[in-house]
This record gives sequence, C-alpha cells and structure tokens, in this order.
Amino acid sequence: MLVNMTEILAEAEARGYGIPCINTPNMETLRAVIGAAEELNTPVIIDHAEVHNSLIPIERMGPEMVKAAKASSVPVCVHLDHGKSYTFLMRALEAGFPSIMFDNSDLPFEENVARTAEFVKFAHERGITVEGELGIMASAMEDTHDDGEDKEKRLLTNADIRKFFTDPDQAAEFAERTGVDALAVCFGTMHGIYAEPPVLDIDRVKAIRKAVKPECRIVMHGASGVDFEQCKAAISAGCSKINYYSYMAKSATKFAADTIAASDGKIAYHELAEACSGHMKEYAKMVLTEFRNGTL
Ligand SMILES: [Zn+2]
Repeated sequence: MLVNMTEILAEAEARGYGIPCINTPNMETLRAVIGAAEELNTPVIIDHAEVHNSLIPIERMGPEMVKAAKASSVPVCVHLDHGKSYTFLMRALEAGFPSIMFDNSDLPFEENVARTAEFVKFAHERGITVEGELGIMASAMEDTHDDGEDKEKRLLTNADIRKFFTDPDQAAEFAERTGVDALAVCFGTMHGIYAEPPVLDIDRVKAIRKAVKPECRIVMHGASGVDFEQCKAAISAGCSKINYYSYMAKSATKFAADTIAASDGKIAYHELAEACSGHMKEYAKMVLTEFRNGTL
C-alpha cells in the first residue's frame, strides 16, 4: 500500500528500528526493493533523486514507483530525494508522490526556514509529508547521486565532514518553525563513496533527538558506506529514516561484471538484468533486516 512517511516512521521509532530509504532508478531495482520488503513483511521507503533526473526522468519511473507501492502487500512510502526547485516538487506531486524532501540546506538559515515552511503548509493541506535538511550533506567526487555539474568536488576526510555538522539547538528551532515531518541532519555521513571509513558522532544524534520536537523524525543520509554497527547505533540514538544506495549500486555493478566474466561474455542482456535484480533483492533484504535491529 502507498503511504506517507508519518504512517510508518512513528512506529519504527517507537519500536527502536529504522526504515531504509532506497533509490529505485529502474524497474529491476524497484522490483528488487519492494520484493525484499514483501518477503520480510516490513515497510520500506523508495525514492527518486532529483539529481538522477537528467538520466532517468521522474515522469518515467515516478508513476511506476507509485503503481508498485499501491500494489504492494506492505506499506511503501514513495519519496522525492533532495528536491531543489518548486517546479521539480510539482512534477513529483504530479506523479503521485505522497512524500517530498525539499532541500534548501545550501541557503542561509533564515531562507532555508522560510522556503521550507512555505512548502510544508502547502503540502500538509494535501496530506503530503515533508523532509527538510539542515547542515549541508557533503558529496564525494564519486557520487551515484551526482549529475557531474559540480567540478569542485574532492575526496573529503572525516575532519572535512565535521565542518558541516548540524547544531542540535538550531535543528530544534528549524523543526519548530518549519513544521517538517522529518529532518536530515549531518553527524558524520556524506553522499557517495567515502575517502576513509566514516566515524559517526552518535552523541550528536542523541542531542539532536532530544532537542527536536518528538513528532519530527531524524534522518540519516549517505548510510551505505557506513558499517552496520554504526548505522544501528544511529538508529538506537533516534534516526528512523536511513537513506541507503551508493554502495548497493556499486555492489550490483561488480556482480554484473563478475557474472559476465563467469559466462565468458555469453550471458544475454535479459538474463543479466534478472540476475542483477536478484542480487539487489538479497542486498535489500540484508539492509532491511539489519535496520530492524532485531525486531523482525
Ligand atoms: Zn541525501
């Protein structure tokens, strides 16, 4: 069934587990992720990233995601990831998305608050949930969310990432003034492939969770390069939505290369696509299981 964030994240946090939010940029991945959630009988969030849009338009995958969510036996939230422009948010709503991330994190605090609050009012009147972002989520040079426009990106160390950390008191003020349903915060993760193993500031998550009003969920982005122990510690500290994709996509690429090599290049494309979908499904099952923190 198709749901918004509120319908699944409140229960997740109350019971101490996290729900992965996974990009589904093609039919093979969409089938894999929803199939994994159904097999485990657990909710999932699937999302379309605005930065993927030059390659995969939302008008192609968006309606397929909504259709698959409606047909699913488990709650599936279809979410827009890092929406930046009003035009693009409207395209997601047009496609039937019940949940939107409006990312104004690169603007000064007051502008971020004003733009986010304005959209939250519009969205809530229509039953749409909204995620905001505070504390810029850095992106690596090699980023599966990247459309290649930012040539200045370089490998970031943990010390670099610390400069973007979210301040708990500012997070509380942001949640209060905007009315967002969920807030993406920075405490040691970034997008894409990490330059060195990330070290999360779990005490910061606890402080943010304590400061921010309880009905606003705390979101972790860039989780796929983080070991499961730290992810689970972040979940226990109060993160209930965890964005997970880059390393999963890389794993499927390696699986495809190995499968082609093992067949001496003889495997047909449709057989390869099916095999990759199966690989993604097993990967998604592992992530869903780990994030349930023993509650499955
Ligand atoms: Zn993100």
